[in-house]
Amino acid sequence: MDRVILLRYGEIHLKGKNKKFFEDKLIGNIKQKLDGLDYRFSYKRSRYVISDYRPETENEIIERLRKVFGLHSLSVAESTKTDLEAITETAVALSKKSGKFRVSVNRADKTFPMNSVETAKYLGGKILNSNPNLTVDLFEPDFVVNVDIREDGGTFIYTDKIACANGMPVGCAGKGLLMLSGGIDSPVAGYMISKRGVWIDAVYFHAPPYTSERAKQKVVDLAKQVAKYAGPIKLNVVNFTDIQLYIYEQCPHEELTIIMRRYMMKIAEELAKKDDCLGLITGESIGQVASQTVHSLAVTNAVCTLPVFRPLIGFDKQDIVDISLKIGTYETSIEPYEDCCTIFVAKHPVTKPVLHLIEKSERNLEEKIDALVKEAIDTVEVIRC
Ligand code: ATP
Ligand code: MG
Repeated sequence: MDRVILLRYGEIHLKGKNKKFFEDKLIGNIKQKLDGLDYRFSYKRSRYVISDYRPETENEIIERLRKVFGLHSLSVAESTKTDLEAITETAVALSKKSGKFRVSVNRADKTFPMNSVETAKYLGGKILNSNPNLTVDLFEPDFVVNVDIREDGGTFIYTDKIACANGMPVGCAGKGLLMLSGGIDSPVAGYMISKRGVWIDAVYFHAPPYTSERAKQKVVDLAKQVAKYAGPIKLNVVNFTDIQLYIYEQCPHEELTIIMRRYMMKIAEELAKKDDCLGLITGESIGQVASQTVHSLAVTNAVCTLPVFRPLIGFDKQDIVDISLKIGTYETSIEPYEDCCTIFVAKHPVTKPVLHLIEKSERNLEEKIDALVKEAIDTVEVIRC
């Protein structure tokens, strides 16, 4: 009897001819996630199986696998040879101490002498006889003893299924550039886009000395937390101070936020193109703040040609908070360090900006802005998270 971890994938089931492409990505990501641990991965009996690991690392392996996009669920199982006595002994041993149960049998090996219904009845009887505190309930059991008789003479037996992250394997849907601030929303946006298989780089705009080293560290910490799901993230840190000061000097203050956001997008787009990112990703949600009215989003969007993906666009703040709690970014996001937008905000920012008026204000920047943008791009700091 060997203890193994059985893995099941989700939406990849729906793929047709190119299923192998998705499976290869998934297997590669599983191996990358388990890097540094001893284990064996096999594609055995039409199942993904993790075996030969040290028992004390089982929880660590499970926690890492739960964050692999593309996996639907996993089970810790006992693997035995397909022999009625061995299967019975294992099924009895795995049953809980009390409660209602049923046995579910999947018989891929058609040479096994009993069919699946007969096997389930037989094992159910044996389990009942072993413990007077158990009863059978086919419809509302407290636990299910699953018996998976494979074609190759081996059987897996397990009771529990542990939910994984679902989604699609990271890397199967191109690459995008996440605009990552220290807030609650953008890490969640990164998580959601990477859940659809997009590989992400990130960009953070800071404004030293108006924003602190600690605020930057917070963004690095957030990128590392998102990377637990998304895989390694290349974080570009852009020094935005001179651009912000220049806009502050030259443009109407109620338009500062929108003009700053347009320059952030413009720079993000240039970085994206350099690194083969096919779109930008933000944590914007309609109506959340003045810069996120439909008018503001339209004016911001007008500076770039790449698509801008906004996975949270229709989410309420509480829905976003719930996801950030689930993925472990919330505690970091609420640390109280200023990010660069909050320092240069006007008391009454425009909520219905008009593109040609904003462009007119931006003409005040013509003298120096191209050089400042170039300088910002040339001095990007890259941090691997
Ligand atoms: P968040 O919680 O993600 O900070 P927010 O509600 O504070 O979002 P804004 O500050 O208007 O909203 O920012 C909207 C989006 O713009 C963010 O979700 C993020 O994608 C991007 N963004 C804002 N500030 C920065 C920054 N300093 N660096 C990189 N991206 C940023
Ligand atoms: Mg923010």
